[in-house]
Amino acid sequence: MELKLISNDSHAKPGYGANMRSWGDTITEVYKCPCGKGKVYYDNEDIPGHRYKNVSCDCEECNEKYNFARGTATLIESQK
Ligand SMILES: [Zn+2]
Repeated sequence: MELKLISNDSHAKPGYGANMRSWGDTITEVYKCPCGKGKVYYDNEDIPGHRYKNVSCDCEECNEKYNFARGTATLIESQK
């Protein structure tokens, strides 16, 4: 299932330590959760010397029912 994008934000950030002179990006995207009561957050930091990716949902109901990826939700039951 595709989620509805509410907002997205990206920033350029300098690298860490020895990578200080090269730049990377941080991306934050906010989607509506499948039931519409909560939100799904996608964070991606791709900075020299530092990589981080996370998807989280603040809706308890949907957290129990779905697995989330960037912009999509998959029913947990249908994966069994
Ligand atoms: Zn929900």
